[in-house]
Amino acid sequence: MRTIVWYRGKDLRVADHAPLTEAAEAGEVIPLFVLDPYFFAPERACALPNRIQFLLASLRSLEANLAAKGSKLVVVAGKSVEVVPRLAREWSADRVVAHRWVEPFARERDERVKAALGDRFELYEGETLLRPGTLRTGAGKPYSVFSQFARAFEKTACVEAPLPAPKRLPPLPDNVRADTVPIPALSDLGLVENPGILPGGERAAHERLTRYLAKAAGRYADDRNRMDLEGTSRLSTDLKFGTLSARQLWQRVSREVEDARSQRAFLNELVWREFAHSTLWDRPELLREPFQPKWRGFPWREEEHGWRAWLEGKTGYPVVDAAARQLLAEGFVHNRARMIAASFLTKHLLIDFRRGEAHYMAHLTDGDWAQNDAGWQWSAGCGCDAQPYFRIFNPVSQGETFDPEGDYVRRWVPELARVPAKFIHEPWGAPPEVLQAAGVRLGATYPRPVVDHKLARERFLTVAKAHLGSASSAATDASRQRTAR
Ligand SMILES: Cc1cc2nc3c(=O)[nH]c(=O)nc-3n(C[C@H](O)[C@H](O)[C@H](O)COP(=O)(O)OP(=O)(O)OC[C@H]3O[C@@H](n4cnc5c(N)ncnc54)[C@H](O)[C@@H]3O)c2cc1C
Repeated sequence: MRTIVWYRGKDLRVADHAPLTEAAEAGEVIPLFVLDPYFFAPERACALPNRIQFLLASLRSLEANLAAKGSKLVVVAGKSVEVVPRLAREWSADRVVAHRWVEPFARERDERVKAALGDRFELYEGETLLRPGTLRTGAGKPYSVFSQFARAFEKTACVEAPLPAPKRLPPLPDNVRADTVPIPALSDLGLVENPGILPGGERAAHERLTRYLAKAAGRYADDRNRMDLEGTSRLSTDLKFGTLSARQLWQRVSREVEDARSQRAFLNELVWREFAHSTLWDRPELLREPFQPKWRGFPWREEEHGWRAWLEGKTGYPVVDAAARQLLAEGFVHNRARMIAASFLTKHLLIDFRRGEAHYMAHLTDGDWAQNDAGWQWSAGCGCDAQPYFRIFNPVSQGETFDPEGDYVRRWVPELARVPAKFIHEPWGAPPEVLQAAGVRLGATYPRPVVDHKLARERFLTVAKAHLGSASSAATDASRQRTAR
């Protein structure tokens, strides 16, 4: 049996990789990666600089790991839907195997490959713990309430132990000839290395996990919302690119985190991840449309001044600005800061969540279609089990609660570094002598607020009530009873 193991960028590992393990048990293996112009055309790559950087580093690590086991990663350039069936023919492969993706454009790609290869093309589960679309309500429908999904997950899902990496892999078959290309360097794609991006690859992922388990994991329940602390795992990019599998993470946290609250809180976030993937699987239109139909046609504003201020971290709300600047510098934003920033864009500025979603997708190293869309729609209020539209984060009190000393702001908004904690989330409320001592001149060294919180809140509520109408009051009564995040 000769198998092409088609790596597609979300499973860049050798351990817990069922397609690779089974292919090696069955005979000859050809590990393949296709540099598809969909992502690798220079203009596309330049639009996704941080993810491309992490991906290339992870590909190099995969290449080395496969080589250490006796195999070789074959890299070719071209459109996957054409290249993969052609190479399968040329190499007389019996099977092409890969992990399933949930995104609509990926499903279309897979249908086209399936049409060309028929039963020789097989998809495996592995991005998530449970196959997306498996859990159903009593009425046979997809879940639209997280707590119910999580209960069903707990009852149904039996998370199996991850597979070890194959000890050895067979060498590439002799007749495997192709126009192979090296893994491109960043500069080949017109990109410059961003030192703020985490190192990619399987080993780096496991080192991050081990560090997390040794340090922050036992306090996760208490610290995970604190933007100023390293209280979370920073493993989202590894899950996104599969340098760590969800099963590997689930198993180690289940076994090694002794604090029961923290273990439960962390595993619950992994179930949110399952929920996002399952929801996108069942409702592929979500990458274009709000989950709740009554939000269609919402009168978002085309407001360039506010949009630019939000993009560049110059809204005058320190915590919103810190989030914007962390995104641009590190390709990462703390979850609490993502929620505050997304709420601010959609509610304070009344700007379409899809614009923010696209900006995050362009810059986030962990940018994942299912989770990013879920996060944005949740924050805007239009998503699946979203927070009610009338819950509008106050960026000042959010900052005071989740960045009490202002250290998160100080790190990303250095022009406020010397403002005392008492005023750092609301510098316009500080006495002039305090600002002067901190070297801050509002409107010159740091902007005044781009909108007034109270007025913006009222504006949003008026617009939302008018658009959503009475249908929303029934829905919000129900959502009040659900667990708040
Ligand atoms: C507007 C917005 C956009 C987001 N975009 C993305 C995205 O593109 N990619 C992404 O992976 N996450 C996204 N999230 C979810 C969350 O912010 C990140 O997963 C988290 O911040 C990653 O940091 P961490 O690995 O340290 O998380 P940890 O707190 O250590 O959590 C562990 C893992 O659980 C999962 N997880 C944590 N929080 C959530 C959540 N709220 N929803 C779903 N899964 C979660 C992630 O896979 C994460 O790596 C978004 C959230 C919001 C509000």
